[in-house]
Amino acid sequence: MTYEFKGWAGYDEKAADGGLKYEAFEPKVFEEDDVDVKILYCGICGSDASVLAGEFGPIEAGRVAGHEIVGEVVRVGAQSGGLAVGDVVGIGAQTDSCLACEFCDAHKEQYCATPTLTFGSPYVRGKSAGTMCKGGFATTWRGPAHFAIKLPAGLDPAAAAPLFCGGVTVYTPLKRWGAGPGKRVGVLGIGGLGHMAIQIAKAMGADVTAISRGSGKEADARKLGASKYIATGADLAADFAPHARSLDLIISTINPPKVDVAAYLALLRPEGAFVLVGAVVEPITFHSFPLITGAVSVGGSNTGSPDEIRELLALVASHPEAAPWVQKWAFEDINKALPEFNKGAPRYRFVLANTENGAKL
Ligand SMILES: [Zn+2]
Ligand SMILES: [Zn+2]
Repeated sequence: MTYEFKGWAGYDEKAADGGLKYEAFEPKVFEEDDVDVKILYCGICGSDASVLAGEFGPIEAGRVAGHEIVGEVVRVGAQSGGLAVGDVVGIGAQTDSCLACEFCDAHKEQYCATPTLTFGSPYVRGKSAGTMCKGGFATTWRGPAHFAIKLPAGLDPAAAAPLFCGGVTVYTPLKRWGAGPGKRVGVLGIGGLGHMAIQIAKAMGADVTAISRGSGKEADARKLGASKYIATGADLAADFAPHARSLDLIISTINPPKVDVAAYLALLRPEGAFVLVGAVVEPITFHSFPLITGAVSVGGSNTGSPDEIRELLALVASHPEAAPWVQKWAFEDINKALPEFNKGAPRYRFVLANTENGAKL
């Protein structure tokens, strides 16, 4: 089979506003533990927009972002980890790791000190070590089979794409902090990550409270699975007073310049946790007293491991109502989709569909 490696490449920070150029690129050297994947769908995640805007540091010429990839395996090496040509797989935010440290051995590859990130960081091992990897805004992905996860039957491949980054980013802390029957989970912010957090927490059996500015998203939050909705305004303390000590866990998916953590801690039951998956620009400050008196925690969480992605895919396959809400864009319209994404238009995730590779719009 012949196929090419072409992608939507960024050259400077204008890339984030729709300044990507479509061009051929040189993939990594194919090794025996690699697979080639014909890309069908790729979600647009906030990190893609940040990377292309240069917020994670200046980008090199030809950066191809995109890290919520679903496609079909078209080539396997001798050590393909059981993958075969024709399998439908997905790749998330992590493309590779050292596969030799204590964290990789423990199947917690996201904590490897030398991860290769799909939206653009150097390979750390093999013949292509030191060269930049290429992401999913492309026709074809090449990389280690270890990080290409097979989709279970029953999952729509377009809707599955956002599970590979946004979905597992919220699934991992929900699991770590015990979301399930009898647990009361708050989800702060209803966007790409937040909408998946509501669906996934509900599918895990938790009772979900959505927290969002104003009441504009209340109907959606309830459709997604929230049983309660807290509309916030200018005075968080007043908004939260009727709901004091009502939640075991809050997953914060917002990315504001600052966040008033103390106000949110008032919502927590004793031994509860406030967990950030969205980045806050300014340092977070609050008094120690609420932490001590309520024995509550403030934490954070990164993406998930390949095993955690597998668990999440199985969960959503058995709870079809938890499939992300996606709006599809033609692959060639990426420069129109990105400015809309930056305006906050997705309800709730944009997914690019590569019809030349067989995707459906
Ligand atoms: Zn490692
Ligand atoms: Zn992401």
